[in-house]
Amino acid sequence: MPFHFRGLRHSNDWSRLLFVFKDNYRKIKERNKSNQKKQISTAVFESYDGIVITDANADILRVNESFERITGYTQPDVVGKNPRFLQSGRHPSTFYQSMWTTLLTTGHWEGEVWNKNRSGKIYPEWLSITAIKNIHQQITHYVGHFTNLAVIKQAQLELERLSFVDPLTNLFNRRKLMDQLEETFRDPVKRMQTFLLFADLDDFKDINDSLGHHIGDLLLQEVAHRLLEFAHPYGDLVARIGGDEFVMICHRILSVEADRMSIATAYAHQLLERLKTTYRLQNANISITVSIGVRVLSLEDTNPDVAMQEVDLAMYQMKSEGKDGVMCYIPEIKRKAQAEFQIRQKFETAMERKEIFFVYQGQFTSEGTLAGAEMLSRWKQDGQWISPGQFIPAIEKTSMILTLGELSLREAVIQIKKWRKSGIDVPRISINISSIGIHRHREDVVQFVKGVIKDDNLDLSFLTFEITEASLLHEETAKRTLRDLHNLGIQFSIDDFGTGYSSLAYIHTLPIDELKIDRRFIQQMRDSSTARAIVQTILSMGQNLGIRVIAEGVETEEEKTILDSMGCQLYQGYYFMRPEPAQKLVDYTNFLQKPL
Ligand code: C2E
Ligand code: MG
Ligand code: MG
Repeated sequence: MPFHFRGLRHSNDWSRLLFVFKDNYRKIKERNKSNQKKQISTAVFESYDGIVITDANADILRVNESFERITGYTQPDVVGKNPRFLQSGRHPSTFYQSMWTTLLTTGHWEGEVWNKNRSGKIYPEWLSITAIKNIHQQITHYVGHFTNLAVIKQAQLELERLSFVDPLTNLFNRRKLMDQLEETFRDPVKRMQTFLLFADLDDFKDINDSLGHHIGDLLLQEVAHRLLEFAHPYGDLVARIGGDEFVMICHRILSVEADRMSIATAYAHQLLERLKTTYRLQNANISITVSIGVRVLSLEDTNPDVAMQEVDLAMYQMKSEGKDGVMCYIPEIKRKAQAEFQIRQKFETAMERKEIFFVYQGQFTSEGTLAGAEMLSRWKQDGQWISPGQFIPAIEKTSMILTLGELSLREAVIQIKKWRKSGIDVPRISINISSIGIHRHREDVVQFVKGVIKDDNLDLSFLTFEITEASLLHEETAKRTLRDLHNLGIQFSIDDFGTGYSSLAYIHTLPIDELKIDRRFIQQMRDSSTARAIVQTILSMGQNLGIRVIAEGVETEEEKTILDSMGCQLYQGYYFMRPEPAQKLVDYTNFLQKPL
C-alpha cells in the first residue's frame, strides 16, 4: 500500500496514517520472518544428512539431495512410495511395530536402522522421525532425518588407522608397535617364538644433506617396502619409530630347543643383505649400510619397554663397533652402556675439578734425538686412574669429546710457548683428535682451532693431529674440514695404522703427513713373518708416497733393531720413555742427549 503524506489536514488523517504505517511495518516484518523461515528450512533441507518428508500415510512427498546420494534413489524414483522399500531385512517386524507405536504415541522416534541402498549395499544409519501435526492435533506429515553411520564409522576407522600409521612409509608407528609387543608379552607361547629387530640406517643424515630430503624420503619408503617384503611370508609387524629407525616384531622361532639367538641373528643377516642391495632412486644408484640390533624374547622377560631399550642398545653397540652389521643383545652390552653412562656423568665434573691433565711421550729418531712428543690425557679421580681406553669411547658419543679436544689444543699451545721461551727444542707436538668428534661436529672444529690461536697468530706447523678411523672422514664436509686445518699449518697422522679401516684410498684423498704403525704389529714382529711383512710394506709405502712413518709401542732393543734394519726412522714407545709430565720429558731428553 502506497503512503500519502501530502494533504493531511485532520487528526483522523493522522491516525489513519499511523495505522497504515504500523500495518505496513507489521507486514514487512512478517515477510522478513517468513523469508528467514524459508531460508532456514532450505538450508536444513540441503543438509549433509538425508531428509525424507512423507504425508500422513507415510507416502514420500519429497527427499533431499543427500537422501539421493546416500540411498542411490532419485526423487522421481521414490515420490509416492512408502520408505519401507529401503528396509534391509535385518530387523524383525517387531522392530518396526515398536517404532510406529512410539511415533504415534510420542510424536517422535529415533534409533539405529540398517537400510539397503539402490545397489543392494546394506548400511547403518541413525534415523529420527518426527510426526508433524496441524492445529487439530492431526498428523499431516512425517519428517525423517538420517545420518549415514557407515561414513562416520569409516571415518572413525580411518582416524584410528592414522593414529597407528606412519604417514611417510605407511608402516605402523611406535604406538602400534608397543601395543603389539604388549600383546606378545601377554602370551608366553608367542613370546618364546619372538625376536625383535631394530634396523637403523648408517649415516642417513649424510644422504639427506648431500642428496636432499626428497631423496632421503624416497629411500625411507623403499627401505619400508623391502622390510614389508621381508616380513610378508611370516606376517611380522614392521614399524618406523623415528627418522631412520625401523623395528620388526618377528614370530619365527619354532623350536624351543634350538639356539634361538643364532636363528634370530641369521634372519637379521638376511635382512641386512636385502637392505644393502643398491637402491635406484630417481636415476641415481644409492648404496647404504645398516646397523641391526637383535633381541630374542624369553619367558623371563616381563617388560616390553625394557625389551625395546635393549634391542636399541644392541643396535647402538653395533654402530659404535663400526656399523654395517648385526648385534644380538646380551646383558654385557647393557653393563657396558651403564658403565659408559656413569663415566660420562663423572667426566663433566672431572673437567671442572681439573682432574684431567696431560702427559707427554717423546718421539725419537733412530739416533735418539727428540723429534716430537705425543700428548696423552690422564684422569685420576679420588685416587683412582681411569684410562683413556675407558673414557674416550664413552665421551666420544657426546660433545664432551670436543671439550677434551679443545683442552688438549690449548694445553699444546701453552706448552710449546713455554718450551720455546726457555729455549727447549721440542720440534712437534701430536695430539689425539677423535674422528668421531670431527665427523659429528665438523662445522665447529675449524672455528674453535681458529679461536684458540687468534690472539697470538701462532704458526701451527708444530702441531700434528693424530686420527684413527679415517674412514669416518671420507665424506666431503669432513674432508674440507681437514683441508682447512691443513691450510692453518696443522699436520695429520693416521694413528694405529694397519688396523680398522685404514684403507689406502683415504691416504690419497686426505691431507696425510704421517702414518703411525699400530703397536700390535710391532709386538708381533719377532714371531710373525706376516707382521714383519706388514711393517715393511707400510715403511716402503711411506717412502714412496713421501709420508713419514713412525713405529709406536716399541718396547725392546730387539724391536728397534728389526725396525732399523727395515729403514724405520721414527720411534715411540716404552723402550725410549713412558708418557710423563712435561718437565720430565725435557729432563729425560736432556739425559738421552748427554754423551756417555
Ligand atoms: P694412542 O694414540 O695409540 O696412544 C698410544 C697408547 O699406547 C697410549 O696409551 C700409550 O700410553 C701407550 N703406549 C705407548 N708406548 C707403549 C709401549 O711401548 N707399549 C705399550 N703397551 N703401550 C704403549 P693410553 O695413554 O692409554 O691411550 C690410549 C688411547 O687413548 C690412545 O692411543 C688414544 O687413541 C686415546 N687417547 C689418549 N689420550 C687422548 C686424548 O686426549 N684425546 C683423544 N681423542 N684420544 C686420546
Ligand atoms: Mg695417538
Ligand atoms: Mg696408536
